[in-house]
Amino acid sequence: NNLSKHFSTSHFVMAPISRETDFLVIGGGSGGLASARAASGKFGAKAMVIEGGRLGGTCVNVGCVPKKVTYNAAAIAETIHQAKSYGFHVQETAPFDWTTFKHKRDAYIKRLNGIYERNLANDKVEYIKGWGKLVSKNQVEVTLEDGSKEVVNAKKILIAVGGHPHVPPQVPGSEYGINSDGFFDIETLPKKVALVGAGYIAVEFAGMFNALGVETHLFIRHETFLRHFDPMIQETVTKEYERLGVKIHKLSETNKVEKDAATGKLTLHYTEAGAQGSLSDVDHLIWAIGRTPATANLGLESAGVKTLETGHVAVDEYQNTNVENIYSLGDVTGKIELTPVAIAAGRRLAARLFGPEQFRTAKLDYSNIPSVVFSHPEVGSIGLTEPQAIEKYGRENIKIYKTNFTAMYFAMMEPEEKGPTAYKLICAGPEEKVVGLHILGLGSGEMLQGFGVAVRMGATKADFDNCVAIHPTSAEELVTLK
Ligand code: NDP
Repeated sequence: NNLSKHFSTSHFVMAPISRETDFLVIGGGSGGLASARAASGKFGAKAMVIEGGRLGGTCVNVGCVPKKVTYNAAAIAETIHQAKSYGFHVQETAPFDWTTFKHKRDAYIKRLNGIYERNLANDKVEYIKGWGKLVSKNQVEVTLEDGSKEVVNAKKILIAVGGHPHVPPQVPGSEYGINSDGFFDIETLPKKVALVGAGYIAVEFAGMFNALGVETHLFIRHETFLRHFDPMIQETVTKEYERLGVKIHKLSETNKVEKDAATGKLTLHYTEAGAQGSLSDVDHLIWAIGRTPATANLGLESAGVKTLETGHVAVDEYQNTNVENIYSLGDVTGKIELTPVAIAAGRRLAARLFGPEQFRTAKLDYSNIPSVVFSHPEVGSIGLTEPQAIEKYGRENIKIYKTNFTAMYFAMMEPEEKGPTAYKLICAGPEEKVVGLHILGLGSGEMLQGFGVAVRMGATKADFDNCVAIHPTSAEELVTLK
């Protein structure tokens, strides 16, 4: 019959090409959105974003933004506690209403999702809610929410799909744990939590839980956490967490997790410095052991896009993949997994591909990128750590300036309430160029941005010293180091 005749023609084997674009971005997270908006809004290219989840990606939905809001809540809890020292009569037992807070935080994120969608419209970026899969170097198949499929033909394609938390190790019962995504779903204030990991996420979450009065256990494999940071930061912050009451299980490994069917509470079995231990009545176990690129079902093979051994998309310094006209950036490339890095790379790529001649060689310089850990206290870091500087310049060619002191904020407090502040400048060569700056203490997160500008401009120790101190601040110690 007619119908079977129709379907037997090769014409109907592929879904029809329904859309065309200059710049197709797969992934509506920080990097992808920034790149698409710049391409269209700034340089007039026809751009399209495909995103199946909520707009904004990890940062907006299950990362930086809701984390910082939670961090603010934890900071307020600390302030309420400290207010007594300044003569305030505060009711310390006032419970924190996590549930109300959580719902307000969710509503804020939802507002942001809407703003992101409107921003796309303002910049005339087409937005398809669906999941993209490469079928060739110029074609992406999109599975829409209702399961139907479309094919988009694109001159250039950007892969900016980000990543997701690592699956936990092969530990029996590990599936009873959650990850950083699940953290943002927690509805009520837990009594006892366990976190496994030693990076940004484990340390930030542990600090927040502890400040909010939750019994917090942090399981790390070594003696310190934040081991990619300067030793001063690792050692001082690990010690401070212990002082603040976080139960740090050093040299530990989780062997088994059990769940009580009646109460839902977990029991962790672990080894700690060789000895067997267990922790029961745990409300949440959170795996925070790194992140994996989200390349599954992306069709990278169909387009011939190469990946690294780690699974990250391989790119050069211009965000080019091995396939002409396919680019990639952000967490999926595994370079420096930070939102502003992806945004900066995305804008530069858009300028290079669609901007005027002067941007033809635009690319992101991945050196000297400042980063902050919202730990207790905050940590800020830019440039080389001391071991890295020694390796690069030789011990005899670097000079270290450091200080540690008690910030004036703590002047009114009892000794046991005083937190640490520590700063380190690493200078190289006879001109004492600042090649590393590491700070921890109150306000470090806000302080680092300005110092980051100085370090990127190639400031020397003399430049720091020539800037008159602002008194009384903690930051002034960085321009008066001896
Ligand atoms: P990280 O890569 O920062 O840290 C994970 C750490 O966990 C590892 O370095 C390792 O440390 C430890 N680890 C790995 N495997 C295991 C294991 N099986 N058992 C116990 N510990 C283990 O990952 P995160 O998940 O913390 O964060 C992911 C990324 O997100 C970060 O790299 C960062 O770029 C970004 N991020 C940035 C933030 C910010 O800018 N403030 C905040 C949150 C995340 P060790 O070798 O010492 O055991």
